[in-house]
Amino acid sequence: MDEKIVLLGAPGSGKGTQAKRLCEELGLTLISTGDLLRSAVRDGTPLGLQAKEFMNAGKLVPDELVVGLIEEKLKGLTGGVLLDGFPRNLEQAKMLDKITKVTIAVDLNVDEDIIVDRIVKRRSCKECNEVYHLDAKPPRADGKCSKCGGELYQRTDDTEEVVRNRLKVYKESTLPLTKFYNDRGILVEVNGRGEIDEVYSRIVDAVKNFRK
Ligand SMILES: [Zn+2]
Repeated sequence: MDEKIVLLGAPGSGKGTQAKRLCEELGLTLISTGDLLRSAVRDGTPLGLQAKEFMNAGKLVPDELVVGLIEEKLKGLTGGVLLDGFPRNLEQAKMLDKITKVTIAVDLNVDEDIIVDRIVKRRSCKECNEVYHLDAKPPRADGKCSKCGGELYQRTDDTEEVVRNRLKVYKESTLPLTKFYNDRGILVEVNGRGEIDEVYSRIVDAVKNFRK
């Protein structure tokens, strides 16, 4: 059976990085709803044109439309897939369930304080977009990019208050979602703390053990 993996993890959990690598190394197709939307809009597909109307009006693209895009994408694919960024809540999971059966839901757990630290201490270069972390990857000179000497800045939504609020919203919407997958016996919890390589091995092991 072709694997349909859903990767869940809070913003700042490192989920995006892990998703890319899992796909490269396990030969899965990455289905990122953000990318799907962008390419459908760019290619002017029927669903893309509908999505564009919502976006132009400053509205959220309805879930039905996003699910339609996923369905279209799945039709043309063979082999396993990994979904990143969808579903984000129980309603979306139920809609997804009508078009395809998820085989594993991997939930990447990272302590809230670690995520806050990662995000709040993040600085980016105004010139070349290089990303620093004040403790883990500090610039050589305060406030200056080590690569190009550009000025470093902090994104306005990277403050502790905003991040904690974002995490609270995330938790509230994903709890029913993890319960949904847990009730089906397909939820796998993975400790997302530590180095990228370490976390990656844990995810791969968890997926392999689940297959047995
Ligand atoms: Zn720079």
